[in-house]
Amino acid sequence: MEDPRPPRIALLSSPGLGHIIPFAELARHLVRSHRIAVTLITHPADPSATVDRALFNNLPDEVDTVCLPEFPPEDSLNGTTKLETRVSLTINANFPHLRSLLRAISSSAPLAALVIDVFCIDALDVASEFGIPAYLFVTCSCLALNFSFHLLKLDATFQGEYRDLPEPVRMPGCVPVQGTDFIETVQDRRSEAYNWFIRVTKRFYEAKGILVNSFEDLEPGAAKALKEADGVPPVYPVGPLVRAAPDEENECLRWLDRQPRGSVVYVCFGSGGTLTRAQTRELALGLEMSGQRFLWVVKSPHERDVTGTYFGDKSGKNPLDYLPEGFQERTKGVGFFVPSWAPQVAVLGHASIGGFISHCGWNSTLESIVKGVPLIAWPLFAEQRLNAVLLNEDVEVALRPKVSESGLVQRDEIASVVKRLMEGGEGKRLRKRAEELSHVAARSLGQEGSSVRALSEVAREWMDRRT
Ligand code: UDP
Repeated sequence: MEDPRPPRIALLSSPGLGHIIPFAELARHLVRSHRIAVTLITHPADPSATVDRALFNNLPDEVDTVCLPEFPPEDSLNGTTKLETRVSLTINANFPHLRSLLRAISSSAPLAALVIDVFCIDALDVASEFGIPAYLFVTCSCLALNFSFHLLKLDATFQGEYRDLPEPVRMPGCVPVQGTDFIETVQDRRSEAYNWFIRVTKRFYEAKGILVNSFEDLEPGAAKALKEADGVPPVYPVGPLVRAAPDEENECLRWLDRQPRGSVVYVCFGSGGTLTRAQTRELALGLEMSGQRFLWVVKSPHERDVTGTYFGDKSGKNPLDYLPEGFQERTKGVGFFVPSWAPQVAVLGHASIGGFISHCGWNSTLESIVKGVPLIAWPLFAEQRLNAVLLNEDVEVALRPKVSESGLVQRDEIASVVKRLMEGGEGKRLRKRAEELSHVAARSLGQEGSSVRALSEVAREWMDRRT
């Protein structure tokens, strides 16, 4: 019999702001544009961060937010625990709480679907215990999603490490990708992380549908390939879901007010991207050599782990103390430094910004596209190298600096690539392309836009399911 009460959707994010932010945006779109009641379930990303609290405070009242309590016990984590393992431990430890929560929700409203992050893939089993369909919300590109499915084939047919592949991989509808640009998790086939990746991707086929935070006009070929792929559940590109810039006073924005239009390079490696001391030094000296204005979100360096600050900077030190001696004084008036965190969406939307040195996290990528800012693609981990290939070779809104044999991007390379972006014809071309893309992105989310239509289609499926 049909249940007369309006259905509710539960969204289950994984820890990490790069996941929580797009999930929160999906929740906002569902309640505002599709009038669907939503409970957004998160895990503690970083207990000391005020950022995620601000994120939830800005959500519409109709979104219920619940943060599951568990953090993995500290003694189960050590300095070498890989990010995927840390995240999985947190999520799995929370399944008993997730069950209680879903039980409580279902007693007050029919639960029409559970939408999960890829890191929460085993929650497919929880959804099936409750007899509700599970959907994936993939917070990365259609290229990365195609890649994940393609890797299952490669895993079965190619022996050896992918970085030794003699030819780039050609997936239907996608830009060719060299083995060295594959997702970082799959670069060592004997690792625990590799097996985790394969296991998780195999389970994607069990989802009832896959929402992707990308849009058709950004990745037409890759989106089409997903829709036509054998056995892949229906794919809905619903992006770009990015935050609106909140109204906030911030010193770095006031500094930007005083700079000429389009003159500042914004430098930020996401919520967790971390450089070594040597790389931090090269970056500082390269920016100085470029002679361009810059706004740099500086993080404390980490020698071994490029995700060293993903769960917050525990060093207790001021990141600015790691900058080369005399550097801040020498660049006074030209450079502005923000320790650890800046209001990125507002920064990217500021008229003084002319370029973005980015680690190419997918949210940062989309934010840059939405604001029409060309990039310098400097990937560090996860699927960021794929994003860099997409931006540089396919969409053509980014330059990509060369990494030297020592693994460092050297200061003269940094200076040269910054100058190419900020001065001269090449930069102009990229800026024009970025501006065009920002209009295309806005159209996808406008009335009758492809992403609005795709989200309406899934929303309708959920609304119709009132058993
Ligand atoms: N972010 C921000 N200020 C910062 C660093 C990051 O607001 O100083 C936000 C950024 O706008 C984006 C998210 O944090 O929405 C980072 O997500 P992304 O996917 O780019 O990278 P990740 O943090 O997952 O590596």
